[in-house]
Amino acid sequence: MAIVIRTIPEPNKTVNVVRECDVVVVGGGPGGIGAAIAAGRNGADTVLIERFGHLGGMGTGGLVTIIPCLSDFSGVMQIGGINQEWIERLEPREAVTYPPKEIWGTDDRRLISYWNDRSFFTVREGRIVYAALIDAEISKCVLNDMVNEAKVKTYLHSWGTMPIMDGNKAVGVVFESKSGRQAIMAKVVIDSTGDGDLLPFTPAKFDTDIDPKIRIANLSLCYWIDGVNFMKVDDFRRDNPRKWAELKQDLMKKGGHPGFMRSNLKGQENIVWIHPRYACSSQIDVEEITRVEFLGREKMLLSYDFFKKFIPGFEQSFIVLSCPQLGTRGARRVHGDYMV
Ligand SMILES: Cc1cc2nc3c(=O)[nH]c(=O)nc-3n(C[C@H](O)[C@H](O)[C@H](O)COP(=O)(O)OP(=O)(O)OC[C@H]3O[C@@H](n4cnc5c(N)ncnc54)[C@H](O)[C@@H]3O)c2cc1C
Repeated sequence: MAIVIRTIPEPNKTVNVVRECDVVVVGGGPGGIGAAIAAGRNGADTVLIERFGHLGGMGTGGLVTIIPCLSDFSGVMQIGGINQEWIERLEPREAVTYPPKEIWGTDDRRLISYWNDRSFFTVREGRIVYAALIDAEISKCVLNDMVNEAKVKTYLHSWGTMPIMDGNKAVGVVFESKSGRQAIMAKVVIDSTGDGDLLPFTPAKFDTDIDPKIRIANLSLCYWIDGVNFMKVDDFRRDNPRKWAELKQDLMKKGGHPGFMRSNLKGQENIVWIHPRYACSSQIDVEEITRVEFLGREKMLLSYDFFKKFIPGFEQSFIVLSCPQLGTRGARRVHGDYMV
């Protein structure tokens, strides 16, 4: 945690208001996109502010390219709406894959084995469920189209830094970009930063402490390895189950991450996805986040070298991408009317 050496006053500044609108949404991840598109479609003059150069949040930049739990265990679709539109817009480019609808809810062992092998997200409680594996790059394009069509005015490369408060009510937001410090006034301000970045400037109560035992206590630096010959990997795993288990243990002892998933997307059959988790003391302290970025890349190399050396099928592989956006899950958690 950064130590404060001393404080200095910031010079008084006036901020240029560049827009007045009905709704401003800060954060262009799945939550923010849903909020902005819904507001725009309902006729609200809507602005979306995103710190990076693309939309999609964890679903694109975080390489969490799985949209899980879209049906219940019996196979009845639970989540549709804007999320389903996103998925359907990926279809023409074959940029999404999921178990076909007719098998959602089945407990057929052969199908479960097939889908579990591709992505365990498609199997829950011994049944096939609807979960979509998506292409991050095509998603970025599709989401641009969706916000444009909803007439949402989008500002990329813009960090929402502070809400403008009128008593207890947020009436706008200050954001920073290459254009400097600017403000947008709005009737409704939505913090969809995933980390609750605007909360500290409001009277809202929130938690930042994380029980280290739960999954959201971890940060993730996801990455992809391409050029994997899965026929060889599968043969080796099938013919050497004990050796496979020993290798996994060995890599874990060394601090690496043996678990990987297949991309399964068309033309990407040689890519594996790795979603490691790193314990951290904070998901909002810049020094801690930086530490995990460094650690994540160190461990990524460790695991990759191990795969390449010991697992047949990885000989020609290469690291094709590590996520530009560290995976956070539990930064600031607001106290709502009820807690989940
Ligand atoms: C490895 C991993 C696995 C996960 N698995 C699951 C799972 O199985 N099931 C599940 O439900 N969830 C899972 N999650 C969590 C899931 O990713 C989040 O619940 C989801 O992304 C939340 O969407 P969001 O839009 O609220 O936040 P995010 O996806 O985090 O998007 C926030 C957006 O806001 C932007 N932003 C942040 N701060 C600012 C700022 N100050 N100004 C402007 N823009 C800002 C970010 O760049 C980003 O685009 C997982 C997360 C990780 C990292």
